[in-house]
Amino acid sequence: MYYNEDTIVFLNGSYVKASEANVGLYNQTMHYGNGVFEGIRSYDTPDGTRIFKAKEHYDRLHYSAKKMHIKLAYSAEELEQITYTLLEKNNLKDAYIRPLVYLGENMSLTPTVDVHVVIMAWEWGKYLGDQALKVMLSSYQRPNPKACHVQAKVVGHYTNSILATTEAKSKGFDEALLTDMHGNIAEGPGANFFYEKEGKLYTAPLGNILSGITRQTVFEIAKELDIEVVEQFFTPEEIYTADAAFFCGTAAEVAPIGQFNDYVFPMNWEDTNSQMIQRMYKRRVSTNEYQNVFI
Ligand code: PMP
Repeated sequence: MYYNEDTIVFLNGSYVKASEANVGLYNQTMHYGNGVFEGIRSYDTPDGTRIFKAKEHYDRLHYSAKKMHIKLAYSAEELEQITYTLLEKNNLKDAYIRPLVYLGENMSLTPTVDVHVVIMAWEWGKYLGDQALKVMLSSYQRPNPKACHVQAKVVGHYTNSILATTEAKSKGFDEALLTDMHGNIAEGPGANFFYEKEGKLYTAPLGNILSGITRQTVFEIAKELDIEVVEQFFTPEEIYTADAAFFCGTAAEVAPIGQFNDYVFPMNWEDTNSQMIQRMYKRRVSTNEYQNVFI
């Protein structure tokens, strides 16, 4: 699904076949989860293939690496250029791009000097599908920001996400919604969360969540459309008074949520401001427009 015999990946300065690349068994990322990564999308736009917000993603990769004491040898600009080359080599236009910075041999709990960079790309549909999602309140909380750097995209953090999604699916839901350590709503396992009430959008402030690049794009679009966005802490109970809700993330894009636990969002998605945001997001990424877009 992710690669075939012809797939090329970028690995430590070379473009090599995915099927021929290998990693050492004593690498610190595999044993302890110390590695950082990104999830990026490119789109087939009228101006050619364009990576959406490449700089923001590669700047965040640098931020994540720094927080984890990982020395990343490539600049954000270099990584962007490499990614365009990789897309070309694989004939990919609409693609999901996965840069991963993983570490070499080190079985101690100390920073690793040997740093590897791999970039992979494949065609991937909407991560959470096209249907309105059934979401459950997770019994898991997001990691405590005093235990790790929650704003860094670290490999090991995703064990929490896997537990939450697995629990939700095992109970017949599509996805989970997690609280922070104070019991306020934080985010999904791989996406940020917004709800809509009386036309306004509400989302958790930074501090206990990943600072999503799509979340930021939602802010930009909402501003252009004159839709108010409120960043504030809120409890799960408050969602039961909302008109609509959605997840947003690079892989998920803007994904409508139809139901939270037993509560069915009452407003027709087509009539919500959230739906306008969804449409504008789609338009923005597929035309590579950043500002002053009007429907
Ligand atoms: N939260 C988590 C935990 C995520 O894994 C992601 C996906 N990177 C997001 C939010 C959304 O971030 P972005 O919009 O930058 O993809």
